[in-house]
Amino acid sequence: MTARLAIDGGTPVRATLLPYGRQSVSDEDIRAVNDVLRSDWLTTGPKVSQFEKAFASFTGAKEAVAVSNGTAALHAAMYGAQIRPGDDVIVPAMTFAASANAAVYLGATPVFADVDSETLLIDPKSLESRLTKKTKVVVAVDYAGQPCDYGALRAITEKKKLTLIADACHALGGTYKKKPVGSLADLSTFSFHPVKPIATGEGGMITTDDPDVATRMRRFRNHGITTDHRERQEKGAWFYEMPDVGYNYRLTDIQCALGISQLTNVPAWTKRRQALAKKYDAAFSSMKGLKPLSVRSDVTHAYHLYVIQLDLEGLSADRNQIFQALRAENIGVNVHYIPVHLHPYYRKNFGTKEGMCPVAEKAFERILSLPMFATMTDDDAGDVITAMEKVLTHYSR
Ligand SMILES: *Cc1c(COP(=O)(O)O)cnc(C)c1O
Repeated sequence: MTARLAIDGGTPVRATLLPYGRQSVSDEDIRAVNDVLRSDWLTTGPKVSQFEKAFASFTGAKEAVAVSNGTAALHAAMYGAQIRPGDDVIVPAMTFAASANAAVYLGATPVFADVDSETLLIDPKSLESRLTKKTKVVVAVDYAGQPCDYGALRAITEKKKLTLIADACHALGGTYKKKPVGSLADLSTFSFHPVKPIATGEGGMITTDDPDVATRMRRFRNHGITTDHRERQEKGAWFYEMPDVGYNYRLTDIQCALGISQLTNVPAWTKRRQALAKKYDAAFSSMKGLKPLSVRSDVTHAYHLYVIQLDLEGLSADRNQIFQALRAENIGVNVHYIPVHLHPYYRKNFGTKEGMCPVAEKAFERILSLPMFATMTDDDAGDVITAMEKVLTHYSR
């Protein structure tokens, strides 16, 4: 006899919904933002370079460039890599659409590589099979917060003289062979959306060791203009030039102040999410009906997401039914992601279709992201485990 599921009219495991991700903002964060609001600079002021310096130092990169969101960071990184129409950009199928969209913005063609079935990270063998004379850039996505196999990826991109961009939007705080995320690729991009490792409302950053590329990207975020408002004010000058066309992708001082304050929490928040992951791992190792993604031994996982794959062969329900049943129990599960090549836009404009990335497609039918954020309590994690057990037992064959 198992408990009646909430979806069938039973009592839910929780009285209120536990979301899959949530920001954490302290009084200190609020004070930092308040100080900026009373200062002379709401945007393009001293907080921008202060945030960039702190971020570069945290990630071990020489340069960091702040932009208005993670998508702008990808766009700027691809501009920094000098992508042009006609170029191919290899992107894993299992990612957020923005990883590929940014290549489209510059007239390039996203080419989708398949992923490893256990980690859902880009599969170096599939990547190699996609290389042509047109390939210019490879995007590695640190899916769920686990850094990719950068040793294998760099061996390929260095041999072929390609630029390696890490979409590290999930992975701030992670490491690969003890080196921090942000210093593992030619360019690394980050997002500060409220569900990501740190929050500035909207916000993004690119890190690189190449000062010329950093200068190019700073121009790109400011219309393509050579100097910004503050630099001109400091010099008492009015003259500026626009050597290339760019965008307004600036991050405000208000947001940068929040970012500086949030960044100090990354080590503690990462540790907390790792502890929650350990609790999930321990419970799920003996539970039937699901399997967590695997973690390589040479990384520390930042656990932006905790993703499991359902054992559909052992269940009498599909992923969507399990999803609905868990939501009814007030567990805010989610799905990351629909493989990008299956979106109507890519099918229509780039001729992508089912069968191109079979591993990602098969995984998509099985994945669920469970609640995971630093301020979750042990009891919250316990509720998730209880609900998984309840729902999977009900639907087990
Ligand atoms: C969130 C995210 C982005 C986009 O970031 P925004 O700040 O929302 O624009 C890009 N790539 C990945 C993998 C992401 O998770």
